[in-house]
Amino acid sequence: MDSTKFLKIEKITDETPFVKTFYFNHRLNSKPGQFVMLWLPGIDQKPFSIGWEDENGFALTVFNRGPTTNKLFEMKAGERVGISGPYGTSFSVRPNTRYIMVAGGYGAAPLSFLAKQLSVIARSVATKQSQSTKIDFLLGARSAEHVLFEDRLSKLPNTKIHIATDDGSKGHKGFVTDLLSSVIPAKAGIHDNSLDARFHGHDIFVCTCGPELMEKKVLDACNVAGVECEISIERYMKCGVGVCGQCAVDDLGLHMCKEGPVVSGALASQIKEFGVYHRDKSGKKVYFEN
Ligand SMILES: Cc1cc2nc3c(=O)[nH]c(=O)nc-3n(C[C@H](O)[C@H](O)[C@H](O)COP(=O)(O)OP(=O)(O)OC[C@H]3O[C@@H](n4cnc5c(N)ncnc54)[C@H](O)[C@@H]3O)c2cc1C
Repeated sequence: MDSTKFLKIEKITDETPFVKTFYFNHRLNSKPGQFVMLWLPGIDQKPFSIGWEDENGFALTVFNRGPTTNKLFEMKAGERVGISGPYGTSFSVRPNTRYIMVAGGYGAAPLSFLAKQLSVIARSVATKQSQSTKIDFLLGARSAEHVLFEDRLSKLPNTKIHIATDDGSKGHKGFVTDLLSSVIPAKAGIHDNSLDARFHGHDIFVCTCGPELMEKKVLDACNVAGVECEISIERYMKCGVGVCGQCAVDDLGLHMCKEGPVVSGALASQIKEFGVYHRDKSGKKVYFEN
């Protein structure tokens, strides 16, 4: 869809106290990891990852944090918003692979869309060639009430959910990245016996979407273990089509709206600012705080 279409919000669901999902009965034919630009006339236009798409349409999962999202949260089903896209790169879909997905906050939405798509493919491939894709889904949140899409994920075959919360109210107490050591072998090719049994016959591939400091830890762990990964990198985006230059990253100058948001771990490792700083809407550097 090239031009902006004013689409009716079909349904809104409350996911957590600060997160809602907006459903649209419209097909984008998107791939997991891509995003749309959402325009509220008189307010702003902002990027949102496609959090779900099936034969009925697509959905966006939104965290309420500023003027655009405040306004969106006041809207009701039946009202219309401007949507263009899908834009950007997507996560790779590979058969016969052990996926490790690491999600923080609303990053759980695009990764659950990816998990769903993989499970559909795994079902069709498994019957033909006895191959399958397996997923370890590492799901992080501040506390139990902020855990997103556990229900949705628990219905997917071949998907094991591992939850971590900062306060320990559900699952592991601590960072979701603490769980990585239980699913990634310490060094590629030198598998721990038990892990070897779980991973045998499958290539390991890590996909992550969430807060950048979390993503940086995932990248570092993958680089140490020699495991391939893909990362969704968020930058302030104004146009979404590589024209304004707002989302260009240092030093490579790549536009995250076109050459991203999903990039390989190898590329992310060359982005000097990844995990260190990003730029606000005026272009000023804002350093990530631990
Ligand atoms: C590719 C991409 C996909 C995204 N997907 C989602 C999604 O699925 N769900 C969702 O809720 N949000 C998503 N976002 C972020 C979303 O675009 C912002 O939440 C949105 O800009 C908030 O708009 P606002 O007007 O409400 O608040 P703003 O005033 O724009 O933002 C409030 C605060 O958040 C900071 N901020 C906003 N956007 C960014 C950014 N991209 N990088 C760093 N800091 C930022 C601002 O500097 C400000 O401090 C995505 C962003 C990108 C680039």
